[in-house]
Amino acid sequence: MILVEVSKDRFKYDIHSLVKAFYPAEDVLVLTKEEIEAKKENGSLEKEIFKIDMIFDDENKNVEMIILENGEKLQEGKAQFTEDNDLSDNSTNGTKASKSTPKNALKQLMYSQLSQKVGHELPWGALTGIRPTRIPMQMLYEGKNSDEIREYMKDTFFVSDEKIDLSLGIAKREKAILDSIDHEDGYSIYIGIPFCPTTCLYCSFTSFPIVTWAKRVGDYLTCLEKEIDFVAEAFGNKKVNSVYIGGGTPTTLEPDQIRRLIGYLGNKIDISNISEFTVESGRPDSITRDKLRAMKECGVSRISVNPQTMSDETLKRIGRQHSVAQFVDAYNMAREEGFDNINMDIILGLPGEELSDVEHTMREIEKLRPNDLTVHSLSVKRGSRLAEHIRNEGYFLESDTGRMMEIAAAGARSMGLMPYYMYRQKNISGNLENTGYAEEGKAGIYNILMMEEVQSIVALGAGTVSKRVYGDGRIERCDNVKDVTLYMNDISQMIERKRKMYL
Ligand code: SF4
Repeated sequence: MILVEVSKDRFKYDIHSLVKAFYPAEDVLVLTKEEIEAKKENGSLEKEIFKIDMIFDDENKNVEMIILENGEKLQEGKAQFTEDNDLSDNSTNGTKASKSTPKNALKQLMYSQLSQKVGHELPWGALTGIRPTRIPMQMLYEGKNSDEIREYMKDTFFVSDEKIDLSLGIAKREKAILDSIDHEDGYSIYIGIPFCPTTCLYCSFTSFPIVTWAKRVGDYLTCLEKEIDFVAEAFGNKKVNSVYIGGGTPTTLEPDQIRRLIGYLGNKIDISNISEFTVESGRPDSITRDKLRAMKECGVSRISVNPQTMSDETLKRIGRQHSVAQFVDAYNMAREEGFDNINMDIILGLPGEELSDVEHTMREIEKLRPNDLTVHSLSVKRGSRLAEHIRNEGYFLESDTGRMMEIAAAGARSMGLMPYYMYRQKNISGNLENTGYAEEGKAGIYNILMMEEVQSIVALGAGTVSKRVYGDGRIERCDNVKDVTLYMNDISQMIERKRKMYL
């Protein structure tokens, strides 16, 4: 464990994220002196590998960092700040285009000390947030040019040239798409179907096996209809920009259930002019021709059919319970039924996969030519089912996910797909990112609206989170419970929470 003692209860999240980025396999604790004392008293503080002291001096506007091992000073450094307007954890100044805020000074100091200690740099430098495009995006809206944005990202956060190019390119593409849709007065709808054919080993979503829920899917749809009634009432004077049905696996619904759900939505809310209607049809083992026809008839414009990998062995290893051949059949069937915007998801760093497996996956995908490709880096959470399985079965995890990412990016480029959205998540393999690539005109609009948080997204179904974006950029969230039975029993309460937030 790495212990960080902070002299003030401040920036704990940023400090934690940055230490964790350098030491992904270690537990990191960021505590005040009082919190450390309390833990020592109740005996819950393990011995640390090393300790970092962060000392904030607001009077003299500086922050000091000392790295200690067994009480001995190993390294130390100090950074000066000139502004004092982001002294709380709630400030959004990770994105403020100023080098000298306390938060940015702190990050620069920590980055230089930690990179010196471990002896290497990080591709994203001191940027720890989950939306690295935020900075270039904000600066583009401020009228800054590419050179100014590059300089700021490099000097302030030490981001590598490659990642600056990636995030700046994406921000420009996102901005062009956002400028082309009237999103400011609009909103989007997310509907969660929390059922799957089986549970994948790496799953971190709300998902329950459809076999155990098949008899109650009708009741679940009734609850979604109640939520749709609320949306019609609350957003009656607003325009829907996009609808996204995700999960889980929405194609676990039968064709008549798909018609019932989308039909109800269309009767209550005008979705005839939306920019995009996506249904995740992720698991090939859930796709049938009748379901594809039902979706097409109901106006679905974009679907996602996900191989994750083109190796049968790996699919078995991760509990997908479908073969590569089944995936190819499902994909071809979707093309035959007229879907002209199909996304594929792949995951890099799956247990037991080497660089050659990723090369193989990309070669096979290139033959199929999807319109979008979303490249995820595997996220292994300590104590998760996946982490335990990897340990028990002795599967290795390829450490060079950076190289895997390059192979996937080159494959996407060779299919004419350009990166258009990106996010990072905690514990992500190689501290990298998830990136969506798309053909011109086929980028997932919902993904951009959701990622850039430029409009409200009302989310229906178990385990979903609704978001209200106010005119001044403030964001409020409210969630539906994950447990399907609780969700159905408490549906009035779920709606009431939304009513409080939106009305
Ligand atoms: S298909 Fe997706 S949501 Fe369903 S179990 Fe697998 S990872 Fe989870």
